[in-house]
Amino acid sequence: MAGNWKMYKTPAETTAFFEKFGPLVAASGHCEIVIAPPFTSLSAAVQAAQGTAIHIGSQNIAWAKEGAFTGEISGPMVAAAGATHAIVGHSERRQYFGETDETVLKRTQAALEHGLTPIVCVGERLEERESGRTEAVLVSQFLKGIAGLNAAQFDKIVIAYEPVWAIGTGKTATPEIAAEAHRVIRGQVREKYGKDAADAKRILYGGSVKPDNARTLMAQPEIDGVLVGGASLDPAGFASIVNF
Ligand code: PEP
Repeated sequence: MAGNWKMYKTPAETTAFFEKFGPLVAASGHCEIVIAPPFTSLSAAVQAAQGTAIHIGSQNIAWAKEGAFTGEISGPMVAAAGATHAIVGHSERRQYFGETDETVLKRTQAALEHGLTPIVCVGERLEERESGRTEAVLVSQFLKGIAGLNAAQFDKIVIAYEPVWAIGTGKTATPEIAAEAHRVIRGQVREKYGKDAADAKRILYGGSVKPDNARTLMAQPEIDGVLVGGASLDPAGFASIVNF
């Protein structure tokens, strides 16, 4: 159960969040919990999560280790801050910051190289769904952005299916629509990496997940977890999603 805070919460707000959230999920041993704050709040989050089972992740990661890449943060830097995960290829990165499948693959490889678990996002835009291209888009994103990983690398990633039309819009994919997309992605995994890898792969759903729809989404066997944006900013709300 992963929370993406997008560009919200200062270090002080992060600490305040964990004071409330920590006790609400202290007994939640049924899942892994990851929270991805902005870079400037990573250290505060790591500190606040100490002694809990909550993992901290970045929302992006550079493909290079260091160098002339103004505005980027590298794997060693994220790892040194104490984070263990990195979101890669979020649709807001693709839409506003020129992220492509090719850079998604490079960033994923960089995260792995530095011991971070990448949460790799894929998902179709509204016009792609409406023109019947959902499957083609997901297959293409998989082939160009993920299938370049070798089996050992692939084993370590988490995939998030996030239909762009459902992110921050209040429009959730129905559990059936989400499950169908997950089946497409898992089918690709099976073709490329085999049945065991496909069965074992965690595929999260993301897109307007809220406390009142988490349970029906999670009831789909295809959906292994959720990636939550807006609703992860509220400690009680996100805790109730975690404890669906
Ligand atoms: C996200 O940011 O990954 C996301 C799914 O956002 P929201 O839950 O707000 O739709």
